[in-house]
Amino acid sequence: MSQETEHIKCLIIGSGPAGYTAAIYAARADLKPVVYTGIVPGGQLTQTTDVENFPGYTDGVLGPQMMEDFRKQAERFGTDVRFGYITEVDFSGDVHKIVVDGEKTIMAETVIIATGATAKWLGLESEQKYNGFGVSACAVCDGFFFKGQDVAIVGAGDTAAEEATYLAKLANKVHMLVRRDEFRASKAMQHRVLNTPNIEIHYHTEAKEILGDGQSVTGVQVLNNQTREETVIPVTGFFVAIGHKPNTELFQGKLDMDGNGYLITEPDSTRTNIEGVFACGDVQDHVYRQAVTAAGTGCMAALEAERYLAAKEFSEA
Ligand code: NDP
Repeated sequence: MSQETEHIKCLIIGSGPAGYTAAIYAARADLKPVVYTGIVPGGQLTQTTDVENFPGYTDGVLGPQMMEDFRKQAERFGTDVRFGYITEVDFSGDVHKIVVDGEKTIMAETVIIATGATAKWLGLESEQKYNGFGVSACAVCDGFFFKGQDVAIVGAGDTAAEEATYLAKLANKVHMLVRRDEFRASKAMQHRVLNTPNIEIHYHTEAKEILGDGQSVTGVQVLNNQTREETVIPVTGFFVAIGHKPNTELFQGKLDMDGNGYLITEPDSTRTNIEGVFACGDVQDHVYRQAVTAAGTGCMAALEAERYLAAKEFSEA
Protein backbone atom coordinates (compact mmCIF):
# COMPACT_ATOMS: atom_id res chain seq x y z
CA MET A 1 0.00 0.00 0.00
CA SER A 2 1.23 3.48 -0.89
CA GLN A 3 1.93 5.87 1.98
CA GLU A 4 0.45 8.86 0.15
CA THR A 5 -1.73 10.91 2.54
CA GLU A 6 -3.67 14.04 1.69
CA HIS A 7 -5.29 16.41 4.19
CA ILE A 8 -8.51 18.13 3.15
CA LYS A 9 -11.39 20.03 4.72
CA CYS A 10 -14.29 18.38 2.99
CA LEU A 11 -14.62 15.02 1.29
CA ILE A 12 -17.80 14.18 -0.60
CA ILE A 13 -18.48 10.55 -1.40
CA GLY A 14 -20.85 10.11 -4.33
CA SER A 15 -21.69 12.09 -7.45
CA GLY A 16 -25.47 12.16 -7.81
CA PRO A 17 -27.60 15.29 -7.25
CA ALA A 18 -26.90 15.20 -3.49
CA GLY A 19 -23.12 14.91 -3.84
CA TYR A 20 -22.76 17.56 -6.52
CA THR A 21 -25.10 20.01 -4.80
CA ALA A 22 -23.09 19.58 -1.60
CA ALA A 23 -19.99 20.24 -3.72
CA ILE A 24 -21.41 23.45 -5.22
CA TYR A 25 -22.19 24.85 -1.76
CA ALA A 26 -18.99 23.59 -0.15
CA ALA A 27 -16.84 25.00 -2.96
CA ARG A 28 -18.53 28.38 -2.74
CA ALA A 29 -17.87 28.36 1.01
CA ASP A 30 -14.18 27.82 0.20
CA LEU A 31 -14.01 24.32 1.72
CA LYS A 32 -12.16 23.13 -1.40
CA PRO A 33 -14.20 19.94 -1.59
CA VAL A 34 -12.98 16.76 -3.19
CA VAL A 35 -15.67 14.54 -4.72
CA TYR A 36 -15.05 10.85 -5.27
CA THR A 37 -17.52 9.75 -7.91
CA GLY A 38 -17.85 6.06 -7.09
CA ILE A 39 -18.22 3.46 -9.80
CA VAL A 40 -21.29 5.09 -11.36
CA PRO A 41 -20.25 8.74 -11.86
CA GLY A 42 -23.44 10.82 -11.85
CA GLY A 43 -25.37 8.18 -9.94
CA GLN A 44 -28.80 6.72 -10.67
CA LEU A 45 -29.80 9.54 -13.01
CA THR A 46 -27.22 8.49 -15.56
CA GLN A 47 -29.27 5.34 -16.02
CA THR A 48 -32.49 7.11 -16.93
CA THR A 49 -33.56 8.94 -20.06
CA ASP A 50 -35.77 12.04 -19.80
CA VAL A 51 -36.03 13.99 -16.56
CA GLU A 52 -38.95 16.38 -16.69
CA ASN A 53 -39.52 17.18 -13.02
CA PHE A 54 -36.29 18.92 -12.08
CA PRO A 55 -37.06 22.64 -11.74
CA GLY A 56 -35.25 24.92 -14.12
CA TYR A 57 -35.17 22.57 -17.11
CA THR A 58 -38.27 23.91 -18.83
CA ASP A 59 -38.09 21.43 -21.70
CA GLY A 60 -36.82 18.48 -19.65
CA VAL A 61 -33.31 17.08 -19.85
CA LEU A 62 -31.67 13.71 -20.30
CA GLY A 63 -30.48 12.25 -16.98
CA PRO A 64 -26.81 11.91 -18.06
CA GLN A 65 -26.80 15.48 -19.42
CA MET A 66 -28.25 16.80 -16.18
CA MET A 67 -25.51 15.13 -14.15
CA GLU A 68 -22.90 16.53 -16.54
CA ASP A 69 -24.37 19.99 -15.84
CA PHE A 70 -24.21 19.37 -12.08
CA ARG A 71 -20.58 18.31 -12.36
CA LYS A 72 -19.59 21.34 -14.45
CA GLN A 73 -21.31 23.68 -12.02
CA ALA A 74 -19.48 22.08 -9.07
CA GLU A 75 -16.16 22.32 -10.95
CA ARG A 76 -16.75 25.96 -11.85
CA PHE A 77 -16.28 26.84 -8.17
CA GLY A 78 -13.19 24.70 -7.77
CA THR A 79 -14.51 21.28 -6.75
CA ASP A 80 -11.94 18.59 -7.38
CA VAL A 81 -13.92 15.73 -8.96
CA ARG A 82 -12.05 12.44 -9.03
CA PHE A 83 -12.95 9.03 -10.33
CA GLY A 84 -12.39 6.59 -7.51
CA TYR A 85 -14.00 4.27 -5.05
CA ILE A 86 -13.76 4.54 -1.29
CA THR A 87 -12.69 1.20 0.13
CA GLU A 88 -12.28 1.96 3.81
CA VAL A 89 -13.42 4.55 6.35
CA ASP A 90 -12.27 5.17 9.88
CA PHE A 91 -14.36 7.68 11.81
CA SER A 92 -12.74 6.99 15.19
CA GLY A 93 -10.53 10.09 15.25
CA ASP A 94 -11.19 13.80 15.27
CA VAL A 95 -10.15 13.88 11.61
CA HIS A 96 -11.63 11.12 9.45
CA LYS A 97 -9.47 8.65 7.62
CA ILE A 98 -10.63 7.50 4.21
CA VAL A 99 -8.89 5.07 1.88
CA VAL A 100 -9.44 5.38 -1.87
CA ASP A 101 -9.13 2.36 -4.15
CA GLY A 102 -7.24 0.51 -1.43
CA GLU A 103 -4.18 2.72 -1.80
CA LYS A 104 -4.51 6.43 -1.19
CA THR A 105 -5.28 7.79 2.29
CA ILE A 106 -7.22 10.99 2.80
CA MET A 107 -7.56 12.73 6.15
CA ALA A 108 -10.78 14.75 5.96
CA GLU A 109 -12.09 17.17 8.56
CA THR A 110 -15.63 16.65 7.28
CA VAL A 111 -17.13 13.86 5.23
CA ILE A 112 -20.39 14.17 3.30
CA ILE A 113 -21.84 10.81 2.35
CA ALA A 114 -23.99 10.87 -0.78
CA THR A 115 -23.61 7.31 -1.99
CA GLY A 116 -27.31 6.92 -2.89
CA ALA A 117 -29.36 3.80 -3.21
CA THR A 118 -29.75 1.23 -5.91
CA ALA A 119 -33.14 0.12 -7.19
CA LYS A 120 -33.63 -3.62 -7.02
CA TRP A 121 -34.39 -5.24 -10.36
CA LEU A 122 -35.95 -8.57 -11.24
CA GLY A 123 -32.83 -9.64 -13.10
CA LEU A 124 -34.43 -10.23 -16.50
CA GLU A 125 -32.39 -9.49 -19.58
CA SER A 126 -35.38 -7.82 -21.24
CA GLU A 127 -35.76 -5.55 -18.22
CA GLN A 128 -32.32 -4.07 -18.78
CA LYS A 129 -32.82 -3.96 -22.56
CA TYR A 130 -35.91 -1.73 -22.19
CA ASN A 131 -34.74 0.22 -19.13
CA GLY A 132 -35.53 3.84 -19.98
CA PHE A 133 -37.61 2.75 -22.99
CA GLY A 134 -40.73 1.60 -21.17
CA VAL A 135 -39.14 -0.02 -18.12
CA SER A 136 -38.63 2.13 -15.04
CA ALA A 137 -37.99 1.85 -11.32
CA CYS A 138 -39.57 5.23 -10.54
CA ALA A 139 -43.25 5.92 -11.15
CA VAL A 140 -43.02 9.54 -10.03
CA CYS A 141 -40.20 10.14 -12.54
CA ASP A 142 -41.65 8.30 -15.52
CA GLY A 143 -45.40 7.80 -14.97
CA PHE A 144 -46.20 10.93 -16.95
CA PHE A 145 -44.90 9.31 -20.16
CA PHE A 146 -47.67 6.70 -19.94
CA LYS A 147 -50.69 8.98 -19.69
CA GLY A 148 -53.83 7.17 -20.83
CA GLN A 149 -51.92 3.93 -21.49
CA ASP A 150 -51.92 0.49 -19.84
CA VAL A 151 -48.98 -0.25 -17.55
CA ALA A 152 -47.84 -3.00 -15.18
CA ILE A 153 -46.10 -2.70 -11.85
CA VAL A 154 -44.38 -5.46 -9.93
CA GLY A 155 -44.12 -5.49 -6.14
CA ALA A 156 -46.43 -5.59 -3.13
CA GLY A 157 -44.75 -3.40 -0.54
CA ASP A 158 -45.51 0.19 0.43
CA THR A 159 -43.50 1.55 -2.49
CA ALA A 160 -45.39 -0.57 -5.03
CA ALA A 161 -48.73 0.34 -3.46
CA GLU A 162 -47.87 4.03 -3.45
CA GLU A 163 -46.55 3.96 -7.02
CA ALA A 164 -49.52 1.93 -8.30
CA THR A 165 -51.98 4.51 -6.96
CA TYR A 166 -49.82 7.30 -8.39
CA LEU A 167 -49.80 5.59 -11.80
CA ALA A 168 -53.54 4.93 -11.64
CA LYS A 169 -54.14 8.69 -11.79
CA LEU A 170 -52.26 8.92 -15.08
CA ALA A 171 -52.61 5.58 -16.80
CA ASN A 172 -55.72 4.02 -18.28
CA LYS A 173 -55.12 0.80 -16.36
CA VAL A 174 -52.52 -0.50 -13.92
CA HIS A 175 -51.82 -4.22 -13.70
CA MET A 176 -50.24 -4.97 -10.34
CA LEU A 177 -48.21 -8.17 -10.25
CA VAL A 178 -48.01 -9.69 -6.75
CA ARG A 179 -46.00 -12.87 -6.39
CA ARG A 180 -47.80 -14.17 -3.29
CA ASP A 181 -51.48 -14.17 -2.34
CA GLU A 182 -51.01 -11.13 -0.11
CA PHE A 183 -49.38 -7.73 0.13
CA ARG A 184 -46.47 -6.74 2.29
CA ALA A 185 -47.67 -3.11 2.27
CA SER A 186 -49.33 -1.57 5.31
CA LYS A 187 -53.08 -2.04 5.62
CA ALA A 188 -53.70 1.63 4.85
CA MET A 189 -51.77 1.41 1.57
CA GLN A 190 -53.43 -1.88 0.63
CA HIS A 191 -56.78 -0.29 1.22
CA ARG A 192 -55.92 2.50 -1.19
CA VAL A 193 -54.88 0.03 -3.89
CA LEU A 194 -57.94 -2.16 -3.43
CA ASN A 195 -60.19 0.87 -3.70
CA THR A 196 -58.70 2.21 -6.91
CA PRO A 197 -60.93 0.95 -9.70
CA ASN A 198 -58.36 0.99 -12.50
CA ILE A 199 -55.81 -1.13 -10.63
CA GLU A 200 -56.15 -4.83 -11.38
CA ILE A 201 -54.28 -7.04 -8.94
CA HIS A 202 -52.84 -10.29 -10.25
CA TYR A 203 -51.95 -12.47 -7.26
CA HIS A 204 -49.52 -15.40 -7.52
CA THR A 205 -48.13 -13.72 -10.59
CA GLU A 206 -44.51 -13.33 -11.67
CA ALA A 207 -43.09 -11.42 -14.61
CA LYS A 208 -41.14 -13.81 -16.82
CA GLU A 209 -40.20 -11.52 -19.68
CA ILE A 210 -40.81 -7.99 -20.86
CA LEU A 211 -41.87 -8.01 -24.46
CA GLY A 212 -41.10 -5.29 -26.96
CA ASP A 213 -40.56 -4.41 -30.58
CA GLY A 214 -36.91 -3.52 -30.12
CA GLN A 215 -37.73 0.15 -29.49
CA SER A 216 -40.33 0.09 -26.74
CA VAL A 217 -42.34 -2.19 -24.47
CA THR A 218 -45.43 -3.91 -25.87
CA GLY A 219 -46.33 -6.32 -23.07
CA VAL A 220 -45.28 -8.54 -20.23
CA GLN A 221 -45.29 -12.31 -20.17
CA VAL A 222 -46.46 -13.51 -16.79
CA LEU A 223 -46.60 -16.83 -14.99
CA ASN A 224 -49.24 -17.80 -12.47
CA ASN A 225 -47.07 -19.67 -9.98
CA GLN A 226 -50.06 -21.76 -8.77
CA THR A 227 -51.58 -22.90 -12.04
CA ARG A 228 -48.27 -22.58 -14.01
CA GLU A 229 -50.26 -20.87 -16.73
CA GLU A 230 -48.38 -18.30 -18.80
CA THR A 231 -50.16 -15.34 -20.35
CA VAL A 232 -49.28 -12.01 -21.96
CA ILE A 233 -50.60 -8.72 -20.61
CA PRO A 234 -50.34 -5.95 -23.21
CA VAL A 235 -48.75 -2.86 -21.63
CA THR A 236 -46.51 -0.04 -22.82
CA GLY A 237 -44.93 0.66 -19.43
CA PHE A 238 -43.41 -1.71 -16.90
CA PHE A 239 -42.55 -0.45 -13.42
CA VAL A 240 -40.39 -2.34 -10.96
CA ALA A 241 -41.09 -1.46 -7.31
CA ILE A 242 -39.54 -4.29 -5.34
CA GLY A 243 -37.42 -2.13 -3.07
CA HIS A 244 -34.16 -0.21 -2.98
CA LYS A 245 -30.87 -1.00 -1.40
CA PRO A 246 -28.99 1.92 0.16
CA ASN A 247 -25.31 1.91 -0.73
CA THR A 248 -24.03 1.68 2.82
CA GLU A 249 -21.96 -1.53 3.03
CA LEU A 250 -18.87 0.59 3.63
CA PHE A 251 -20.42 2.12 6.74
CA GLN A 252 -21.63 -1.06 8.44
CA GLY A 253 -20.72 -0.89 12.11
CA LYS A 254 -19.31 2.65 11.66
CA LEU A 255 -22.48 4.74 11.44
CA ASP A 256 -26.00 4.29 12.81
CA MET A 257 -28.39 2.72 10.28
CA ASP A 258 -32.01 1.66 10.34
CA GLY A 259 -33.16 -1.93 9.82
CA ASN A 260 -33.04 -1.52 6.03
CA GLY A 261 -29.50 -0.14 6.01
CA TYR A 262 -30.37 3.55 5.48
CA LEU A 263 -28.10 5.98 7.36
CA ILE A 264 -29.83 7.67 10.24
CA THR A 265 -29.56 11.45 10.41
CA GLU A 266 -30.79 13.77 13.13
CA PRO A 267 -34.26 15.27 12.52
CA ASP A 268 -34.14 18.32 10.22
CA SER A 269 -30.43 17.78 9.73
CA THR A 270 -27.92 15.71 7.77
CA ARG A 271 -25.78 15.02 10.86
CA THR A 272 -25.01 11.37 11.49
CA ASN A 273 -24.05 10.00 14.91
CA ILE A 274 -20.40 10.89 14.21
CA GLU A 275 -19.25 14.49 14.47
CA GLY A 276 -18.18 15.93 11.14
CA VAL A 277 -19.87 13.17 9.13
CA PHE A 278 -23.01 14.11 7.23
CA ALA A 279 -25.34 12.08 5.01
CA CYS A 280 -27.60 13.38 2.26
CA GLY A 281 -29.73 12.11 -0.61
CA ASP A 282 -31.13 8.63 -1.07
CA VAL A 283 -28.62 7.03 1.29
CA GLN A 284 -30.63 8.52 4.15
CA ASP A 285 -34.04 9.01 2.51
CA HIS A 286 -36.26 6.06 1.69
CA VAL A 287 -39.37 8.22 1.48
CA TYR A 288 -38.99 10.90 -1.21
CA ARG A 289 -36.04 9.64 -3.30
CA GLN A 290 -36.22 12.46 -5.84
CA ALA A 291 -33.35 14.30 -7.52
CA VAL A 292 -34.62 17.60 -6.20
CA THR A 293 -34.96 16.38 -2.60
CA ALA A 294 -31.50 14.79 -2.83
CA ALA A 295 -30.13 18.11 -4.05
CA GLY A 296 -31.89 19.87 -1.16
CA THR A 297 -30.31 17.65 1.46
CA GLY A 298 -26.95 17.98 -0.34
CA CYS A 299 -27.20 21.72 0.21
CA MET A 300 -28.04 21.14 3.88
CA ALA A 301 -25.03 18.85 4.32
CA ALA A 302 -22.60 21.41 2.92
CA LEU A 303 -24.04 24.19 5.09
CA GLU A 304 -23.78 21.96 8.15
CA ALA A 305 -20.22 20.94 7.29
CA GLU A 306 -19.26 24.58 6.89
CA ARG A 307 -20.83 25.51 10.26
CA TYR A 308 -19.20 22.55 11.94
CA LEU A 309 -15.76 23.64 10.68
CA ALA A 310 -16.36 27.27 11.63
CA ALA A 311 -17.36 26.26 15.18
CA LYS A 312 -14.33 23.96 15.44
CA GLU A 313 -11.94 26.68 14.29
CA PHE A 314 -13.49 29.14 16.73
CA SER A 315 -13.16 26.74 19.67
CA GLU A 316 -9.54 25.95 18.76
CA ALA A 317 -8.59 29.64 18.39
P1 NDP B 1 -40.29 -3.87 0.68
O1 NDP B 1 -39.05 -4.66 0.87
O2 NDP B 1 -41.13 -3.52 1.84
O3 NDP B 1 -41.25 -4.66 -0.33
C1 NDP B 1 -40.75 -5.23 -1.50
C2 NDP B 1 -41.91 -5.92 -2.21
O4 NDP B 1 -41.42 -6.38 -3.46
C3 NDP B 1 -42.46 -7.12 -1.45
O5 NDP B 1 -43.85 -7.16 -1.56
C4 NDP B 1 -41.81 -8.30 -2.17
O6 NDP B 1 -42.61 -9.44 -2.22
C5 NDP B 1 -41.69 -7.77 -3.56
N1 NDP B 1 -40.59 -8.42 -4.27
C6 NDP B 1 -39.29 -8.48 -3.91
N2 NDP B 1 -38.58 -9.15 -4.82
C7 NDP B 1 -39.46 -9.52 -5.78
C8 NDP B 1 -39.35 -10.25 -6.99
N3 NDP B 1 -38.16 -10.71 -7.42
N4 NDP B 1 -40.45 -10.45 -7.72
C9 NDP B 1 -41.64 -9.99 -7.32
N5 NDP B 1 -41.83 -9.28 -6.18
C10 NDP B 1 -40.74 -9.06 -5.44
O7 NDP B 1 -39.82 -2.57 -0.15
P2 NDP B 1 -40.53 -1.15 -0.31
O8 NDP B 1 -39.67 -0.37 -1.23
O9 NDP B 1 -41.95 -1.31 -0.68
O10 NDP B 1 -40.44 -0.50 1.14
C11 NDP B 1 -39.18 -0.34 1.80
C12 NDP B 1 -39.41 0.31 3.16
O11 NDP B 1 -39.83 1.66 2.98
C13 NDP B 1 -40.52 -0.37 3.95
O12 NDP B 1 -40.19 -0.34 5.31
C14 NDP B 1 -41.73 0.49 3.67
O13 NDP B 1 -42.71 0.41 4.70
C15 NDP B 1 -41.10 1.87 3.59
N6 NDP B 1 -41.91 2.77 2.75
C16 NDP B 1 -42.78 3.60 3.36
C17 NDP B 1 -43.57 4.44 2.62
C18 NDP B 1 -44.51 5.34 3.32
O14 NDP B 1 -44.60 5.26 4.53
N7 NDP B 1 -45.20 6.20 2.62
C19 NDP B 1 -43.51 4.50 1.14
C20 NDP B 1 -42.56 3.56 0.60
C21 NDP B 1 -41.81 2.74 1.39
P3 NDP B 1 -42.88 -10.36 -0.94
O15 NDP B 1 -43.86 -9.57 -0.10
O16 NDP B 1 -43.47 -11.58 -1.54
O17 NDP B 1 -41.57 -10.57 -0.28
